[in-house]
Order: sequence, then structure tokens, then C-alpha cells
Amino acid sequence: MRTQVGIVGAGPAGLLLARLLERAGVDAVVLESRGREEIEATIRAGVLEQGTVDMLNECGVGTRMMREGALHRGIELRFGGQGHRIDLAGLTGGRAIMVYAQHEVIKDLVAARLESGGKIHFGVEGVSLQDVDTRTPSIHFRKDGAGERLECDFVAGCDGFHGVSRPTVPSRLRREFARSYPFGWLGILVEAPPSSDELIYAWHERGFALVSTRSPQIQRLYLQCDPQDALDEWPDERIWTELRARLATTDGWKLKEGRIFQKGIVAMRSFVVEPMQHGRLFLAGDAAHIVPPTGAKGLNLAAADVRVLASALAAFYRSGDEARLAAYSATALRRVWRAEHFSWWMTSMLHRFHDDDAFSLRLQRAQLEYVVGSKAAATSLAENYVGLPWD
Ligand SMILES: Cc1cc2nc3c(=O)[nH]c(=O)nc-3n(C[C@H](O)[C@H](O)[C@H](O)COP(=O)(O)OP(=O)(O)OC[C@H]3O[C@@H](n4cnc5c(N)ncnc54)[C@H](O)[C@@H]3O)c2cc1C
Repeated sequence: MRTQVGIVGAGPAGLLLARLLERAGVDAVVLESRGREEIEATIRAGVLEQGTVDMLNECGVGTRMMREGALHRGIELRFGGQGHRIDLAGLTGGRAIMVYAQHEVIKDLVAARLESGGKIHFGVEGVSLQDVDTRTPSIHFRKDGAGERLECDFVAGCDGFHGVSRPTVPSRLRREFARSYPFGWLGILVEAPPSSDELIYAWHERGFALVSTRSPQIQRLYLQCDPQDALDEWPDERIWTELRARLATTDGWKLKEGRIFQKGIVAMRSFVVEPMQHGRLFLAGDAAHIVPPTGAKGLNLAAADVRVLASALAAFYRSGDEARLAAYSATALRRVWRAEHFSWWMTSMLHRFHDDDAFSLRLQRAQLEYVVGSKAAATSLAENYVGLPWD
């Protein structure tokens, strides 16, 4: 098999890159270790920045998102029993976010690719990258038990944090920056109407809670927990008790409850690898960086990476210009580190770090009061949350 760009991973990064390349007339093949049904059912992110929404529309896969997604022009910060609205649109010249689940984006991208005759090989095994530091890299894998080899000009490592692409870069040539947090998120999906028109980020002495949504019938709620907790330590009644306590207000606001039909615990970490390229291998999305989900940046950063990469690859095939490819890592990392800082900052402001640290709790309250009381501070949060301009 031969293609121009071999893409490892059919997550948001890999599928969006394939779409952008297709629109630029560049041939690509996507290799994915899981099945189509599985990738289309994995529950993950849900908040799309304005720029990600624009990109999905520009590349012709935004129709269902515009119909079924929910445009949010503000978020609420809740603490001390009171809600404080951050007017995202008002503070950013009209920019907003779209609440539309990641697996719906995946469904739209897979459907569009298959419809246009693009290739995705699902269920591949034993993927390994060869000769990425030469001009003739290749990807070896097994499909239905048979060994295959995909020759390409470039390899895009879009295979997430646990993929094979990042470890292909020799360890002496990569530098990793990491921070883990002493808490995780317990996420649930609930059959209930929305409790609020906008997302609620709640700070509480018992720990953080987040009220998000998926549709008028399905709600997504999170609460801070110990990342080592087992799910059976969180029976439904314990979850509701914690959510009620952490979200309580002095004005009698009521959380809408219902049947919990999905639960999961995720650990929180920050991670960046530098550089994001080695020879003809380019890393994008979670393969190169991870953020804690508090800033809702992971999927959006994956989109930002592949936007830079796709236009550099298109420039190469148009004119043979390699300068933008050579600058890929440096260009992408500027946005990555801004998002790393914002995600760390939101996480630090909203979560309980230690049981006995009253000093930190007072600092967090002081910071929250400043953010909701100062237009300058609220604008800083808003412009980062909706996503800074691309360039
Ligand atoms: C609970 C939770 C909530 C989140 N909330 C948000 C949010 O609100 N907003 C936001 O922007 N982000 C959020 N994120 C982060 C977001 O989901 C990720 O950043 C995003 O999925 C990254 O996309 P990706 O394509 O880089 O990687 P992935 O989505 O991980 O995709 C990688 C793909 O590669 C495949 N793969 C792995 N190894 C191989 C291999 N060896 N060969 C072939 N294929 C392979 C995997 O099966 C997978 O399909 C959240 C994450 C979690 C866990």
C-alpha cells in the first residue's frame, strides 16, 4: 500500500487531519486499532471552541452539529452558595462555545470520509513506524491476521496518549514535561432535563463539581474524586448526595436528577512532549500533550494542531516548500503551552488539593471573587475558554 500521508489513529486529530488533507487534494490513509462502533461510542469531550466549530463547518462536516449542538454564550462560576455568570460572548466580541459530544464529531467525520471514498482501516493490530527519520517512512501493521506495509511520504502520529507514535521518537531526542494531580473526575450520564441553560463550574470545600449537558434529555455531570476510587465505591445515592451538597445555593436552586446510565473515573494530568516532530513523523493531539479537562481544551488543541499540520503539508505538496513543516512543532507548541497554562489555572482554582489546607481554600476564594468581580479578569478567562484566535 502507498499513500502520501499515513495517519495513525482515528480520533478527532486523525480524522480531522484526513478531512483537511482531502480538501487540499492530499492523499491519506487512516489506521485505527479499534472498531468503528467502539470509537463512535466512546464518551469523552463535549465543549467545542468557536474556532473548532468554524473549522468543522469550513470543511463541510458541521451540519448536524449546527442542528443538534447547543450554542452557549456564557458559563457560571458557583461558590459560596451563589452563581456568577461569565458572559463569554459579551467579553469576547461575540465568540461562544458549542456543546456537542466528541463521539458525535467522530460519527460525522467517519461518515464524511467513507462517503467521499477516503480510507480508514479499523481494527488494525501491531502498528509500528519504520524509517521515520528518512524520506521513505512506512507503517507496518496486521489486518485480519495478515501483515501489511503502508509506504508514505509522511506519518502523522494521532494515536492518543497511549499510542505507539510518541515512543517511536528516540528518548534522547524528546523532552517530556508532566504534572499529575491528586484527584480525578467521576463523570456520569443521566436521563434528565437540563438543570441549567449554561455549564456550571462549582467550587466547594468538599471538592469541585461540573454541570454540563449533552441534549435536552441527557445530562453530563462530574465531581472531583480520588483517582484511585473504584466505581462501586460510588453508588448512585452517594453521587447525588455529593452533587447536591457541592452545587447547593442560597436561593433554593434544584439539581434535576434521573437515571444514571453511565459512570467513569478519569485521572487528571498535564503533559507535553517537545518537539512534536521527528524526521517525517509529526505528533498531533493527545499523542503530544494532555491537559486536565477543566479548561475543555483537549479536543480543541487536537484540532488546532492538525490545522497547522494540514496547511504545512498542503504547502509542501503545492510548492515543495518544507519551511512550514520544519516549523510545525514550534508553531503548535505556542498554542499548546497557552492551553496548558489555562487548564492548569482553572484546575488549580477550582479543585480541593489537600484536606487540611485552609490557606489554599482562602486563596482560591480570593481568586474566584476577583475573576467574577473584575472585567479584566473575567475577560481573560472568557477569551481563553472560547479559544484564542488561531494565529
Ligand atoms: C472525561 C473527559 C472529558 C473531556 N472533556 C473535554 C472537553 O470538554 N473539551 C475538550 O476539548 N477535550 C476534552 N477531553 C479531552 C479529549 O477527549 C481528548 O483531548 C481528545 O480525544 C484527543 O483527540 P486525539 O485524536 O488526539 O486522541 P484520541 O481521541 O485518544 O484518539 C486516538 C485514537 O488512536 C487510536 N490508537 C491508539 N493507539 C493506536 C495504535 N497503536 N494504532 C492505531 N490506532 C491507535 C485510539 O483507539 C483512538 O481512536 C476530555 C477527555 C476526557 C477523558
